[in-house]
This record gives sequence, structure tokens and C-alpha cells, in this order.
Amino acid sequence: MKRTFLLLLSFFLLGCTAAAPPCTPYELSATPPKYFVILDYGHGGSDCGAIGVDTAVLESDLNLLVGEHVARALEDRGCFVLRTRTSADAIAGTKRDDMARRGAILLTDGADCTVSIHMNKFSDRRVKGPMCYFQAGAKDGKRLAQCVIDALSSALGYDSRLANPGNNYVTRIPSAPSVLVECGFLSNPEDERNLQDPVYQQKLADAIADGVMNYLETRAGQ
Ligand SMILES: [Zn+2]
Repeated sequence: MKRTFLLLLSFFLLGCTAAAPPCTPYELSATPPKYFVILDYGHGGSDCGAIGVDTAVLESDLNLLVGEHVARALEDRGCFVLRTRTSADAIAGTKRDDMARRGAILLTDGADCTVSIHMNKFSDRRVKGPMCYFQAGAKDGKRLAQCVIDALSSALGYDSRLANPGNNYVTRIPSAPSVLVECGFLSNPEDERNLQDPVYQQKLADAIADGVMNYLETRAGQ
């Protein structure tokens, strides 16, 4: 039932409608994705989020770049991925409308989990590395966030870190288990440099995807 739903969702979201060119036999016979993951790239448009201290790189741009690596890594692992945005633009004209539309996408029926991509900033420039937030009190969200931070800590060479409880819109709104990933600190010189390196971005993305898959493959009821 779930696979049928995902296949139908793929057709709708990929534009296989009456107005679009007909689906090829390959598309019709392709193996349905195993899981449905919603990916949220934080900020966008005039809301650029954090700004790099040394290079003035915009968090919103890095969220899109790293997020697209994550999307492809999840697709390679058999997931159908729905993005909240696909360009540098915001998804609505005002911050309020942007958050409302983002929330509606995060609530799409059938999602197995949601992942929000962000970059961090802090007054102490020595603080660096990834962090993962779950909605305080959400048991499945906590396990998802711990799977992702475990994969990130291991891939990036950090000692084990605990996922952090929080109360963020993008983890509070979804009905599916949700994690907000802070990939690194734009206030730390090493992180700021690394986060703009495509090789490091790919490493981050593979770790996030591995953590998500570990959660999905081992959750209760699999
Ligand atoms: Zn952010």
C-alpha cells in the first residue's frame, strides 16, 4: 500500500500528468522508492540565515548546495525526496507565508521522516562541528536525530555527540519523525572553509543520508 502510494506520488510530483509528455516504459516499470523523505533547505530569498564571518557566504546558499547533495544521496539509497525549495529564492513573498508553505510541505501525507538542513553560528569562534536537533519529547525524532549525529560524528572525525532537544518550527510541525541538522559553524574558520568545499559537502551529505537510512531500516515495525 505504502509503495503504491509512493509510486503515485512520484508521478504527480515529477509532472507525469495529462499535460506532460507521456511517461516512458522505464518510468512506468521503475522500482518504487522504498521510503519517502521530505528535505527542507532552511531560509532562502531575502532571509539568508547566518552569514560567514570570514567569507560572508550565505547560510541559505549553503543549505541549498549541501541539501541537494543530501537529496541525491538519499535518492541513490532508494528514497523518494520532496524538497521544500529548489532555488535560492524563498518559497513565498513574506517570511510568514514562507513558513506556512514550508509547514504545509512538511505535513505531506505518507512521509517516513523529514530532514531540515541548516548552518550554525556562535559567538565563541572555537565552537565547531555538526549538531542535530529533535523536537523535545519526540521519541522517534530523538532516535532519528541520534542516528544522524552518530553518522556525522563518525564521518567527520568527532567524538560521539548527543542529539539535542529543541523546539523549532520544522521539527514541531511535521507529524513524521523530524530532525534539524546544523552542518557546522559559519563562525568557525575551519568549518566555514570546509562547508564551502564540494568534497566536504558530499561527505556531510553521505553521512546524513546514512544516518537517515540507519534510522529507517531499524525502526520498530520494519
Ligand atoms: Zn538556519
